[in-house]
Amino acid sequence: MTNDQLSSALPETDRTRHRRLREQGSLDRAQLDAILEAGFICHVGVVIDGTPMVVPTVYGSDGRNLYFHGSVASRSLLASPGAAVCVTVTHVDGLVLARSVFEHGVNYRSAMVHGVPRLVADPDEKWAGLRCLTEHATPGQWAYARQPNRKELAATTLLALSLEEASVKIRTGGPDDGEGPDAALGNWAGVLPLAATWGAPEPDPRLPEGVEPPQHIVNRSNTRAS
Ligand SMILES: Cc1cc2nc3c(=O)[nH]c(=O)nc-3n(C[C@H](O)[C@H](O)[C@H](O)COP(=O)(O)OP(=O)(O)OC[C@H]3O[C@@H](n4cnc5c(N)ncnc54)[C@H](O)[C@@H]3O)c2cc1C
Repeated sequence: MTNDQLSSALPETDRTRHRRLREQGSLDRAQLDAILEAGFICHVGVVIDGTPMVVPTVYGSDGRNLYFHGSVASRSLLASPGAAVCVTVTHVDGLVLARSVFEHGVNYRSAMVHGVPRLVADPDEKWAGLRCLTEHATPGQWAYARQPNRKELAATTLLALSLEEASVKIRTGGPDDGEGPDAALGNWAGVLPLAATWGAPEPDPRLPEGVEPPQHIVNRSNTRAS
């Protein structure tokens, strides 16, 4: 299957088969897309010289590939092309506070992508991938900010990870012990929701007077971040 032919159901492979908490698992590509769309930070897990390293980094997704980038000197990125990685994206929606400590949990949406990243060497794809990454985190910013010059492009490594082999896990709802023996304890139980929101833009003090934030930044204030 090529990147252009990704099916609406994610394939169940040895790696993506949910084993524990299976009822929270899904192989629905639309849910994967929604989770990736809602975030912009992923964690890239890679083994370097026999030692696992999990690196938080910014990503962009075009629905077929997950793009992530860094310095050409980055150890994790240098190891990634050719080496298998496991990338996760996580959104926490609330704490599930049960009657018993054992039943406590987290409401969340998470995605896990398995594969071997590809070093993006083609100049057109590198440009499009960096644009995708920038726009994913801050829509409108690619056209507003100065775009990378040749030296900056040469100093940047861009990797593309196919979204072919991925899985999703989502937990919603309240605690699971409302009908068990612990319900008789009488202590409070429920969900404490968590929602990240963007704040008001804070101008760089070195800005000359009169430079206002662009509309695409202003419009984000007080909106949900994920
Ligand atoms: C914020 C957060 C908090 C969590 N807290 C706990 C906790 O305290 N205790 C606990 O047991 N579990 C917790 N989970 C669930 C946890 O991520 C695992 O799904 C679960 O523990 C099963 O792990 P496993 O190694 O048995 O996975 P397996 O079922 O063996 O994993 C098989 C495959 O399923 C897929 N998969 C597994 N987990 C995920 C996932 N989270 N997202 C997407 N795909 C996945 C992957 O493709 C993986 O290769 C939490 C998840 C999140 C997002």
